[in-house]
Amino acid sequence: MNMFCFQCEQTAQGKACTIQGVCGKKADTSNLQDELISKLIELANCGEKNDVNTELLIDGLFTTITNVSFDNKSIQEYIDKVQKNISCGSKFDIKTIWDCNEDIRSLKSLILFGLKGIAAYAHHARVLGYKNADVDNFFYESLRGISKDLSVDELLNLVLKTGEINLKCMELLDKANTETYGTPAPRKVTTNIEKGPFIIVTGHDLRDLSLLLEQTKDKGVNIYTHGEMLPCHAYPELNKYTHLKGNFGTAWQNQQKEFDNVPAAILFTTNCIMPVKESYKDRVFTTSVVEYPDIIHIGENKDFTPVIEKAIELGGYREDKKMTGINGGDTLTVGFGHGTVLSVADKVIEAVKSGDIKHIFLVGGCDGAKPGRNYYTDFVKQTPKDSIILTLACGKYRFNDLDLGEIKGIPRLLDMGQCNDAYSAIKVAVELSKAFNCSVNELPLSLVLSWYEQKAVCILLTLLYLGIENIKLGPTLPAFVSSNVLNILIEKYKIKPVRTPEEDIKEILNK
Ligand code: SF4
Ligand code: SF4
Repeated sequence: MNMFCFQCEQTAQGKACTIQGVCGKKADTSNLQDELISKLIELANCGEKNDVNTELLIDGLFTTITNVSFDNKSIQEYIDKVQKNISCGSKFDIKTIWDCNEDIRSLKSLILFGLKGIAAYAHHARVLGYKNADVDNFFYESLRGISKDLSVDELLNLVLKTGEINLKCMELLDKANTETYGTPAPRKVTTNIEKGPFIIVTGHDLRDLSLLLEQTKDKGVNIYTHGEMLPCHAYPELNKYTHLKGNFGTAWQNQQKEFDNVPAAILFTTNCIMPVKESYKDRVFTTSVVEYPDIIHIGENKDFTPVIEKAIELGGYREDKKMTGINGGDTLTVGFGHGTVLSVADKVIEAVKSGDIKHIFLVGGCDGAKPGRNYYTDFVKQTPKDSIILTLACGKYRFNDLDLGEIKGIPRLLDMGQCNDAYSAIKVAVELSKAFNCSVNELPLSLVLSWYEQKAVCILLTLLYLGIENIKLGPTLPAFVSSNVLNILIEKYKIKPVRTPEEDIKEILNK
């Protein structure tokens, strides 16, 4: 075995990548990431609890998320940096977890992978100057927990605490984003590209987009979002820039096809970066935690001049170019976060009471490359016309160009934002449950989630912490969940794997 990694949905044969990653991660990179996690655990065990160390833990964890860093050099430099702050003789090797009893391994993996997701959200909040002591302390507590001999019950408690802390972290990021860039409001976004130089910005970091928009003002270079940056169009302080024109392409897994020879510069602010093909390698730039060998990395000074110059050199398309989503539509509507949905809560509640809206589906999560993900397109297409669909994260590209119409002026498809905007969905669900004087589980609301990487893990843990039942999860269940742990999740939370859209819709509506 050259390596061991089973942290994402596309893991080899549904078990683990042991020769090289299906994502393109090489064995040496995977082993360096293991070493980095081991060092972070040593730091949590004996490093002083201070802001420098907290940031080392957060960014180190973020670096090891799927499709973030393929660059051995920068990972090694990071390991060396962490080592300098380890002030005692604590030693830990993450491989001891990969080799231990499968239920313990499963629970520790749920904590570690969930923690990586929280780290991503904490990072985005921190770059905007927002921190939370409970969130920061949990990085130490949970990493220490992973290195200890804890019982199944103790680990289960830590699993749920991971969900609880993620809720706090998503709330923090929501506050950071809305206080900095305004409350998202509905907005139509085109998928067509105007002629002339342009930059494609992908990832999840609002601050990077904002800095780039400022630096490209009056430069004759248009900006297009890609993937999880799409919801940025809804923020007033971002869409005030008239050169933020639209959205390029679809979800991350199509990038190698969609970026092929594109006459534009491409900036990755975070995951999901795939192995970069020769046909567009010269125009890709990374920043923040995302790194790829031989690709220009924009450092902490956030001087995007090389990106802007590359866009001008490439010149963009000569004529306006019509592009569409995967179902042929060319308009995407964004901006239905909790601020917007709760502002029309009376209308929604009235429509539910009158029977105009009979069911609410939350269909969303991460997208991915494996077959079987058409389930989500087919599911949405088959939902009854008297239902509405809340969506978030990049899984929405399966259906967000469909025109599903409206119910009493409320669009049937409501895009709540990025994956962390699961916080919005939770807020809306809680408010509806208050209005109907029932629990969230008693609402005519069903969650149909797709997962791919570790942010989806922390969101799932938050939903479990909140006691949400009957979640349908797909396209396949995580390889790191052992059969005993799965049985606990099924018994306690009634989690189910997705089947066919027909069967699942029938079951949901008949319940
Ligand atoms: S991140 Fe996923 S695809 Fe990549 S090595 Fe790990 S399990 Fe395999
Ligand atoms: S939601 Fe997950 S899979 Fe989708 S782009 Fe973000 S990190 Fe990647």
